[in-house]
Amino acid sequence: MSGALWRADALCAQTDPELFYPEPGGSHAVAKRVCMACPVRRECLNYAIDSGQTWGIWGGLSQEGLRRLVRTRGRTRAA
Ligand code: SF4
Repeated sequence: MSGALWRADALCAQTDPELFYPEPGGSHAVAKRVCMACPVRRECLNYAIDSGQTWGIWGGLSQEGLRRLVRTRGRTRAA
């Protein structure tokens, strides 16, 4: 899927966007459940990492999860 065409299939576009941008300490659970059923999760994750998103839930991951994935990918590419 090229460009941002994947966004047309994003499940979060059919839900409350605030679920994906919880207040500090707020729950990520519902957003993550939506992401796990989303058909464009991989594209979303790649976009979040490539564009350096620093807020919100992307591809089912919190910011901590995204940072961990970036570190893991960095190690994989360097190996
Ligand atoms: S995986 Fe990405 S596009 Fe899909 S619901 Fe989650 S945040 Fe939205």
